[in-house]
Amino acid sequence: MEFSFTEAEIHRYSRHILLREVGGIGQERLRAGRVLIVGAGGLGSPLALYLAAAGVGTIGLIDDDVLDLSNLQRQIAHSTDRIGQPKVESAASAMRAINPLVQINTYNRRLETANIMALFDQYDVICDGSDNFSTRFLVADSCVLAGKTLISAAVLRFEGQLSTFKPHLDQAGPCYRCLYPEPPPAGLVPSCSEAGVLGAVTGVMGTMQASEACKELMGIGESLSGRLLLWDALAMSFRTIRLKRDPACALCGEAPTIRDLSAHQ
Ligand code: ZN
Repeated sequence: MEFSFTEAEIHRYSRHILLREVGGIGQERLRAGRVLIVGAGGLGSPLALYLAAAGVGTIGLIDDDVLDLSNLQRQIAHSTDRIGQPKVESAASAMRAINPLVQINTYNRRLETANIMALFDQYDVICDGSDNFSTRFLVADSCVLAGKTLISAAVLRFEGQLSTFKPHLDQAGPCYRCLYPEPPPAGLVPSCSEAGVLGAVTGVMGTMQASEACKELMGIGESLSGRLLLWDALAMSFRTIRLKRDPACALCGEAPTIRDLSAHQ
């Protein structure tokens, strides 16, 4: 197989290409890959930087927030001099500084039912780094309806969790709603802005999301589909729980009742 890498690309990605599991084929798959990052915050920052550095050819970033001083404790794609800028623009400038070869698409807006399917259509893998349950469930439902691989991470205080959901590719693999059938009642689970989070915890979880996204694009290693990784940074312990598809799941089960996004209006 012939690759059309320039000398500079071969040099830039040499530590990837050296890996037996990656090589020129894997690097080409990364270059052909299209990943959408939902949220340019604590998880989205390392995700955006590592995916750009890795040479993922097309990276989308969607977030409607502007950069605030309180973000900088953990959102490492941003910098003090960019406070007040749209987060997607701030992150994109950091990504371009690392790797000008990748296409970066910024969407400075909220994800909404009216635009989400057309947006997801343009990407292969969706990485959810959002900070609220309404977005998480909208992303999860849209991924199943559009047949997109979802890599979902969440953090709170000193803990993080991570899984990959791709029931369209993995017969036994669950969707997000197999794990969490419904959003929790409002106010039950605090957000990071209410309960806090150790900055490095978001960095680790977002970086692991980036690693899983690269694996999914290249088709190497063992997918995290069907497993939920839980990390307690204070105890410094990792646990992995097996997940199965729920035949009664309202979204991906045998008689699904969620067939469109009307519940999200
Ligand atoms: Zn399901």
